[in-house]
Amino acid sequence: MAESCPHLAYREAGEGRSFDEPRAFCTVTESFVQPMRADICNARYGLDPAADCEFYVESEAGSETEPASESSDESETVDR
Ligand code: SF4
Repeated sequence: MAESCPHLAYREAGEGRSFDEPRAFCTVTESFVQPMRADICNARYGLDPAADCEFYVESEAGSETEPASESSDESETVDR
């Protein structure tokens, strides 16, 4: 498989910065992609996003495994 990652986007601004040219942005991590990882995102050199990227999630997946640091609502087991 040599398709670029479905989570790859290009943005000209983000994280409080803006750029002259669109940069690779990962919609899973909600952050810009490091240049080395961009080869995986674009499936270059035989790399496969699904196999080679630890952030990759199946596109149909809900938000069960959120790598982001959003606070969770599951605070039912408060020990008081
Ligand atoms: S970092 Fe991983 S999940 Fe994000 S766009 Fe690149 S390959 Fe896809």
